[in-house]
Amino acid sequence: SKVPSITLNNGVSMPQLGFGVWQVPDDEAAKAVGTALEAGYRSIDTAAIYENEKGTGQAIAASGLPREEVFVTTKLWNSEQGFDSTLRAFDDSLARLGLDYVDLYLIHWPLPSKDAYVDTYKAFEKIYADGRAKAIGVSNFLPEHLERLLGETSVVPVLNQIELHPQLQQAESRAFHARHDIVTEAWSPLGQGKGLLEAPAVVAIARKHDRTPAQVVLRWHLQLGNVVIPKSVTPSRIRENIDVFDFELDTDDMAALAALDEGKRLGPDPATFDYA
Ligand code: NAD
Repeated sequence: SKVPSITLNNGVSMPQLGFGVWQVPDDEAAKAVGTALEAGYRSIDTAAIYENEKGTGQAIAASGLPREEVFVTTKLWNSEQGFDSTLRAFDDSLARLGLDYVDLYLIHWPLPSKDAYVDTYKAFEKIYADGRAKAIGVSNFLPEHLERLLGETSVVPVLNQIELHPQLQQAESRAFHARHDIVTEAWSPLGQGKGLLEAPAVVAIARKHDRTPAQVVLRWHLQLGNVVIPKSVTPSRIRENIDVFDFELDTDDMAALAALDEGKRLGPDPATFDYA
């Protein structure tokens, strides 16, 4: 089934569902990304720190798809924040991907203790002006970090990729993004496949629609307007996760899932995370 596109604040369109490759070793990435492209995914989310940009790029090349049909996102790692180091790190990412542009480049974490994300973003604006990233954005930014970027730089980030799933619904960030025409992209949209997919409410809704728990959770995101990038290396799950465009959750289902919010993070807190 066909994945709908959303239009970013700079006019670029992006598939609302893509394929994430965190924790996929480089030598398995080509296979997993190849399976995803065959299954119909047209958006891939990687990062320099995932160390699989090479395998990802190989799969895109091997697919034979025209470059403009695949939306490629990568991210700048924390240790490379700063104006000049960002420009260098971006060149390195492009070289590993084997591409001459990316569709979206993200600052991976704000690292407030380093206080370099504004200069970093100014390098992103140069990369964008040069046409080497068709869109620029951020990841793991809290509203206070976005406020600062909006005040001190000129290109509004197209999106913020944050941890988001029914157990961490991020109401405040989502409202902030909506006010500023910034798309919300959910990382770990399936809650990393841990407890969430066994939660009784999720299982009951899955039964009701004759779908899987993962499909129910992905529908919840899509109906809220989130962009999602579920990850799997299992071919049947890769296909299952994109097969979510021919059913809909009703108001009761959405309400039951809304009640699962615990405000509990699986990943680090962006306010204090400073690992580089
Ligand atoms: P996810 O929520 O996508 O869960 C993936 C896990 O869920 C799989 O490893 C598997 O165990 C399970 N799973 C997947 N499909 C399933 C299915 N159909 N049925 C049952 N179980 C299933 O978690 P994720 O990988 O952490 O997040 C997705 C992507 O988000 C990553 O690959 C990465 O691209 C991105 N990400 C970004 C950041 C960031 O800081 N920006 C952090 C984490 C992840």
